[in-house]
Order: sequence, then C-alpha cells, then structure tokens
Amino acid sequence: MDVLKKVPVREQEAKVRATNFAEVCLGYDQEEAIEEAKRCINCKNAQCIKGCPVAIDIPAFIEQVKVGNIAEAYQVISESSALPAVCGRVCPQESQCEGKCIRGIKGEPVSIGKLERFVADWAMDNGIKPEGAKVKNGKKVAVIGSGPAGLTCAGDLAKMGYEVTIFEALHEPGGVLVYGIPEFRLPKPAVVAKEIENVRSLGVTIETDVVVGKSVTIDELLGEEGFSAVFIGSGAGLPKFMGIPGEQANGVF
Ligand SMILES: Cc1cc2nc3c(=O)[nH]c(=O)nc-3n(C[C@H](O)[C@H](O)[C@H](O)COP(=O)(O)OP(=O)(O)OC[C@H]3O[C@@H](n4cnc5c(N)ncnc54)[C@H](O)[C@@H]3O)c2cc1C
Repeated sequence: MDVLKKVPVREQEAKVRATNFAEVCLGYDQEEAIEEAKRCINCKNAQCIKGCPVAIDIPAFIEQVKVGNIAEAYQVISESSALPAVCGRVCPQESQCEGKCIRGIKGEPVSIGKLERFVADWAMDNGIKPEGAKVKNGKKVAVIGSGPAGLTCAGDLAKMGYEVTIFEALHEPGGVLVYGIPEFRLPKPAVVAKEIENVRSLGVTIETDVVVGKSVTIDELLGEEGFSAVFIGSGAGLPKFMGIPGEQANGVF
C-alpha cells in the first residue's frame, strides 16, 4: 500500500456511464474503507475538524472504521451531522476537511468524504438510525424550508428535545438536493429520501405544500400555532434586484 495515495474509489466505466443516469462513483467497500482509514494518523490537533463546517470528530469516526466498528463510526458522525450520506457525496471536501488534512502536505489527503459516505451507506443498509433525544423539553420550533439548512437545523433541535415541524413549499422535501443536484452525483430515492427519513425518525414532522408567508404567516406560527421560535431556511432560489439604473448592464453583478 502506498500511504501517500488515497485508496482508489471504484466508478462506473465511462462507456457504461454514458448509457445511464445512475451514480458514477460507486464508493468504497468495507475492506477498501478500512485500508483508507489506516492512512489517518489520528492527529492530536486535528485540522480536518476545523475544516468541517459542522465540526465532525473526523479522527474519532475514522478510528472506529479502522477497527471495523462501523455502527459506532456512524454514531460519532451523526452527533454532528444530519446528512452524512449527502455530505459524503457532494461536500467540497477538497477545500474543507481534506484541504486541511496533514497527509495532504506530502501526498494525498485521507479520503474523508468517501469514508463518511461509506459509513453512512453502511448504516442505511444495516437499518441503523441516529440517536434521538431521551427527554422532550415541551417546546415547539417551526423550520421554514426542507433544504440542507432546514433539515440540519431540525435534526439538531430534535436531538436537543424540541418538537420540530418543517414547512416546505414544494410537494417533496429536500430543496436543491432533490431538484438541483443531478441523480448521477446524488441519488434521490436511494440516498436523499432515506436520509430525510432519518431526520423524521428523530421525531421531526415535515409538512409539504405549505408556503410560509401565504398558507400561514410567521406571526401566526409564533401566535396561535404555538411555536416558540422560527428558523428560516428558505434558500436563495430567487434573485432580489435593487431597482437602480444600470443593474442590467453587462459586467454588473
Ligand atoms: C445545480 C446545483 C448544484 C449544486 N451542487 C452542489 C454540490 O455539489 N455541493 C455543494 O456543497 N453544494 C451544491 N450546491 C449548493 C447547495 O445545493 C446549496 O448551498 C444548498 O442547497 C442550500 O441549502 P438551503 O437549505 O439553504 O436551501 P435550499 O436547498 O434552496 O432549500 C430551501 C427550501 O426552502 C423552501 N422554501 C423557500 N421558500 C419557502 C417558503 N416561503 N415556505 C416554505 N418553504 C420554502 C424551498 O422550496 C426549498 O425546498 C448546488 C446548487 C445547485 C443549484
């Protein structure tokens, strides 16, 4: 094994993938994942954690992969992330966790994204769910939008014991994960839908076809609907113009 290089990940061959819309990257199997995990030197002052927007304890989950304890690796990840199968596929790891990996100075960084994806897929295949709150705190929070921001906020609050309802304008939850990122990069039923089910399994309710601001207002949510707080995760789907002269001119952004 060349410790300076990542264990290569299997992909559909170009000639085959040109004939279908299935996911191109096939991910690691357990043997490959363990081999790749062994490249992690378990830094005391782990820079990869600082590169992760949700600060997953990356060395801790990789340590569990090394010894084949994938269920525990999943629980370590899911303490910090509600969407590991999604993030293992579409996060820009090269500029985040892997961009900070010490192995990357002399060779290739540890393939943290592919390891995260392997662990999350293994957990799904083996029916393992994130651990929810043991005690509810009796408070209700409304989340507007079911994209990654809304799902993450809802999952974190549910783990803290809040009763969370997500209101989604469209007929299907997921935001850009569902209607923006293509199937060959992020499979919808096989990955996104299952990870949303995991958020539901924490006790989160998702109401679709509800346009907050039209079907119900924020004042109503905070008033008669009895929510203590509202998180707005409505994305950046529509541009907002300033209405000033020249804003449509070439080169003006
Ligand atoms: C084509 C494309 C490809 C991308 N690829 C990648 C990638 O590979 N990697 C990466 O990291 N990022 C990628 N991104 C960016 C990433 O998808 C976004 O940063 C992310 O989706 C933002 O999440 P969000 O939850 O803030 O918003 P969104 O995903 O936009 O979700 C917002 C949700 O709120 C709902 N909503 C809006 N208004 C209301 C309302 N009034 N009431 C109720 N619901 C409402 C919307 O219907 C939507 O479901 C890509 C984006 C696009 C467009």
